[in-house]
Amino acid sequence: MIYRIDISRKHRRPPPPPAPTPRGRRYTPHVRRHTDYVLARRAALRDYRRGALTQADVCDAHPELLRAARHVGEEAAQACPICGHRTLRYVSYVYGDALKSANGRCVSGSNELERLGARFDEFARYVVEVCLDCSWNHLGRRELHGRRHAG
Ligand SMILES: [Zn+2]
Repeated sequence: MIYRIDISRKHRRPPPPPAPTPRGRRYTPHVRRHTDYVLARRAALRDYRRGALTQADVCDAHPELLRAARHVGEEAAQACPICGHRTLRYVSYVYGDALKSANGRCVSGSNELERLGARFDEFARYVVEVCLDCSWNHLGRRELHGRRHAG
């Protein structure tokens, strides 16, 4: 399914100027570059509510994703948009050629992300929201991490 993303200029703000990076500073999980998939999420929910998508279409989390959500997922502040239960979790995966054996790994907590960020120049973290109850799932965010983006 292809969602139309509105990239018209009036909705875009110029990025803030980059801050100087002091030498020898520890990596912090400050995220400078990211993509939010808010519009795609909104479109999926709208299609579900008007009947263009069934619950089976939007609540199809893979068993592995559900398992990760149950064991290492971060509790979300809001309720599930489909079932309304407070069983929404965020699961993070990291991707990047430089990561080698860690490529595609599910990361838990900011410590692991910090460790990877201090070790590698660049990799992407994908944050997926998953409901433990109804299996709703959606890619929420893509962030760039690593030494190149630390500051
Ligand atoms: Zn749910």
